[in-house]
Amino acid sequence: MHIVVIGAGVVGVTTAHALQQRGHRVTVVECLAAAGLETSRANAGQRSYGYVYPWASPAMLKKALPWLVKRDGPLKLKLPPSPHALRFLAATWRFAQQPGLFEANKRAMLRLGAYSRQCFEALEEDATLDFDAGQGGLVDLASDVESLKALQVNAGLLGELGIAHQLMTAAEVAEREPALAGSQPLVGGIWLPGDGTGDCHRFTQALAAVCAARGVDFLFETQVTGAERDGGGHLRALTLATRDGEALEPLAADAFVLCAGTASQRLGEMFGARLPIYPVKGYSLTMPLRDAARAPRSTVIDDRYKVVFTRLGERLRVTGFVELAEHDRQIPEQRLETLLHAVASRFDGAADVERAESWAGFRPMTPDGPPVIGEGKRNNLFLNTGHGTFGWTLSAASAQLIAQLIDGDKPALALEAFRPGRFG
Ligand SMILES: Cc1cc2nc3c(=O)[nH]c(=O)nc-3n(C[C@H](O)[C@H](O)[C@H](O)COP(=O)(O)OP(=O)(O)OC[C@H]3O[C@@H](n4cnc5c(N)ncnc54)[C@H](O)[C@@H]3O)c2cc1C
Repeated sequence: MHIVVIGAGVVGVTTAHALQQRGHRVTVVECLAAAGLETSRANAGQRSYGYVYPWASPAMLKKALPWLVKRDGPLKLKLPPSPHALRFLAATWRFAQQPGLFEANKRAMLRLGAYSRQCFEALEEDATLDFDAGQGGLVDLASDVESLKALQVNAGLLGELGIAHQLMTAAEVAEREPALAGSQPLVGGIWLPGDGTGDCHRFTQALAAVCAARGVDFLFETQVTGAERDGGGHLRALTLATRDGEALEPLAADAFVLCAGTASQRLGEMFGARLPIYPVKGYSLTMPLRDAARAPRSTVIDDRYKVVFTRLGERLRVTGFVELAEHDRQIPEQRLETLLHAVASRFDGAADVERAESWAGFRPMTPDGPPVIGEGKRNNLFLNTGHGTFGWTLSAASAQLIAQLIDGDKPALALEAFRPGRFG
């Protein structure tokens, strides 16, 4: 089959790789100049297979208001909120209120995470890639007793699902991450030894290069502008244009996979799929290490500022914020100050903050939280999008699942939580 993948972020490129491995002819269409330049560019770098959860959570509803009003709180909403943001928040509210939905979706996402771990292992056996990968596990800190209780509850679920973990005292945290010895406030944490780290951008570019060498066609600086259908409603071809809007020849294929990140809502509408995906903004700072002994060995989540610190080879990346501001690419100084303050509070002196590179990206978030993985209605369009906070972590699994669906194989996991039709 000839299959066209729309978007060369980490999700599109892993999908192209999975399809090419199964013997399909694959073309990837990407509007930017190279792979991994949009949301997959400078994320927190966690492959957090044991730390994935849905966005619409009853606990988040309770915390949202205090987080919004706190000056350096992790949640931000541009005022006045746009109708798009309000619709998205209202849908999130409804999903969060549905009894049992958060728990069911969290289980489904953790199972997807565990499968992704296996799929990444197979992928990295198939292709040797250089992306500052680390297998040092993930530490989630508890700076107060309430956070520690939440970690204990979570540990029960991880145990039930067979996901390796260890609850830790503050002293045990310091054994795992020596730079945190004496750090305050800290009452304990949890360690997820199966999780890992890596530079998603480098991974995406390296995998795209492997795919290209094996015959996958990449059409860069080419945007998908629409679709042509046959009489039966099947997609026949995509209409394309250069980045300047000059029309190109339509691209026909047997099947199409939408992996366009935050653009998937707009493209989905053109293809007859309702995907209420919102661009939830976050920020990162990446800086060269100054003193490795003061830096995290792997990746650490700090519950106080809701930030993530990740070691990427000789660099430290700090990431944070969940902001609803449409596609506003500005990076306010105040956000960077909070990130730098967080670094100083846990890993002071670890990195050369003067040389920090800032970035803002947009999580392609569904209002409930699980990604969209499945087949569109009545046609040969497949959807692998809406990965929100965990697209790098879940990409290897969702790519395999899409390839299984396209080939008519039984999917390796139940896909109920990821159904494209769940938004009506
Ligand atoms: C601050 C922050 C921290 C994060 N940390 C983590 C983390 O630690 N771990 C994790 O797992 N995830 C993390 N994420 C989430 C993760 O980065 C995303 O889920 C993931 O990058 C989404 O990948 P994607 O391929 O779906 O989207 P993208 O990377 O955005 O790729 C979509 C591509 O489609 C292209 N495109 C769009 N429209 C068109 C069109 N019309 N024609 C052609 N091409 C088009 C775009 O140019 C883009 O390249 C984080 C995100 C943010 C913002």
